[in-house]
Amino acid sequence: MSEGNGVAPLVLIVSGPSGSGKSTLVQKVLELPGTMPSISCTTRPQRATEASGKCYDFVTEAEFDAMVARGDFLEYARVFGKYSYGTPRKWLNESRARGLDLVLEIDVQGAAQVKKKLPEAVAIFILPPSRQELERRLRSRGQDPDEEIARRLAMARDEIAASEEFYDFCVVNDDVERAGRDAQGILLALRCGSARRRNRVNQVLASFGG
Ligand code: 5GP
Repeated sequence: MSEGNGVAPLVLIVSGPSGSGKSTLVQKVLELPGTMPSISCTTRPQRATEASGKCYDFVTEAEFDAMVARGDFLEYARVFGKYSYGTPRKWLNESRARGLDLVLEIDVQGAAQVKKKLPEAVAIFILPPSRQELERRLRSRGQDPDEEIARRLAMARDEIAASEEFYDFCVVNDDVERAGRDAQGILLALRCGSARRRNRVNQVLASFGG
C-alpha cells in the first residue's frame, strides 16, 4: 500500500514485445496489495477469450475519436498500424483518490508519452531471452499466420532497440516465476525510496520527541 501520508501513488509502466509474457508479469505485480490496473480503451475487436471491462474497454473508432477530442486520454497510440489504444486519465485520478499504485500495460510509444507527462512514472521493459524463444512462443499460440509473426518479430527488434531510451528497469522473462518476483521486487523497492518515506521518518522522529 502506498504511504497515504500525502505521497502520490506510483505509476508503473510495463511494456515488452508481443510474446514477451508481459501480461502474465503484470498480473503478478497486481497480486501485490495496494495496486490497481489501468484498463485501456481499444478499437481492436474483442477476442473470444476476453471479457469487456476486464482486459480492455472495447470501443468504436467514433467513440475513441470523441475521447481523444475531449482530452480523456493520458496517452494514446496506433499499435501495429491498425488499431488505436489509449489509457484513460480517469484511472490516474482513481489511483490518486484511492492511494493505490497504478499499473499500465502499454506499448513503447505510450510509455514515451506517459514519461513526458509524468516524469516520475517508472517504466519496466520485459525482455524475451532471445529471438528464437520469442518466435517459438508466438508460434505456439497458434493464432497468427507466418507474415504476422514476421511482423511482430521485426517490431520486437525495434522495441528492444528503443527500450534503452525510456525504461528504468529491464526484466528478462526466461523463467516466469523468477521474472514475476523481479517485477514485484521493483515495485516493492520503489515504495521504500527514502524520499517517499520522508513523512514516515518524520513521524518516527516525532515519536522520539522530535
Ligand atoms: P493486444 O492487442 O495484443 O492486446 O495489444 C497490442 C499492444 O498494445 C501491446 O503491446 C499492448 O501493450 C499495447 N497496448 C495495450 N493497451 C495500450 C494503451 O492503452 N496504450 C498504448 N499505447 N498501448 C497499449
